[in-house]
Amino acid sequence: MAHTVRITNVSDVTHDVRRITCEKPDGYTFEPGQATDVAIDKPEWRDEQRPFTFTSLNSWPELEFTIKVYPDHDGVTEQIGMLHAGDSLLIDEPWGAIKFKGQGCFIAGGAGVTPFIAIIRDLQSKGELNGNSLVFSNKTESDIILRSELEAAQGLENIFTVTNQSSSELARGKIDREFLQKYVASFDQEFYVCGPPKMVEDVSECLEKLGAKTDSIVFEE
Ligand SMILES: Cc1cc2nc3c(=O)[nH]c(=O)nc-3n(C[C@H](O)[C@H](O)[C@H](O)COP(=O)(O)OP(=O)(O)OC[C@H]3O[C@@H](n4cnc5c(N)ncnc54)[C@H](O)[C@@H]3O)c2cc1C
Repeated sequence: MAHTVRITNVSDVTHDVRRITCEKPDGYTFEPGQATDVAIDKPEWRDEQRPFTFTSLNSWPELEFTIKVYPDHDGVTEQIGMLHAGDSLLIDEPWGAIKFKGQGCFIAGGAGVTPFIAIIRDLQSKGELNGNSLVFSNKTESDIILRSELEAAQGLENIFTVTNQSSSELARGKIDREFLQKYVASFDQEFYVCGPPKMVEDVSECLEKLGAKTDSIVFEE
């Protein structure tokens, strides 16, 4: 059943990522890592659903989405970039995506970090973040979603890498076999991979060759 939820706030997370908070319907519950199908509550956009992940926790009074806007796609995300407090979204029931199964390594590309933001926030709130790591790939440092929050998350090891910024002092280059061997301490742990299709495919294949089991999800872009 679709719920109409009023947007209470829109703010910038990076130059092209928006944080959208909205009212939470009574009795609406979800797990960290889950997503729902979202449409914009305007006549020409109500049938155009896209999946987005809750970056809020179920215990929070409002829902939060963290959404990358693609102005060149001429579609839903361009419209999302123009939303304001007072506009409404249509959301469906929560569904699957990634589920935390135990201590491990999160590997994300761009907006693919959103399920891990929810899971990291949840683990942190329970004091169980210790021993988990995040490998987070972006084009440039300015694309890193919630970098300061992630860096401040006690117990989380962050490995940021950039692919298109030679001046950066962060790790550089794509997440391939050599990268994983260099930065990942053990392949005998859970791996959670989320990002654009090619990245998820390549990283999952490398991990399997290195002996790891993965839970992965593709974010279409
Ligand atoms: C389970 C799940 C959870 C997700 N959670 C999130 C999340 O929390 N945050 C987030 O930001 N994203 C998330 N995504 C990704 C999101 O659902 C969209 O796939 C993403 O925003 C891209 O949408 P789109 O291209 O369909 O968007 P739109 O903006 O609607 O664009 C669609 C149109 O753009 C055009 N187009 C498509 N690709 C290109 C291109 N490369 N260049 C030019 N034009 C193009 C086509 O004409 C198409 O009709 C999630 C995806 C999944 C599967």
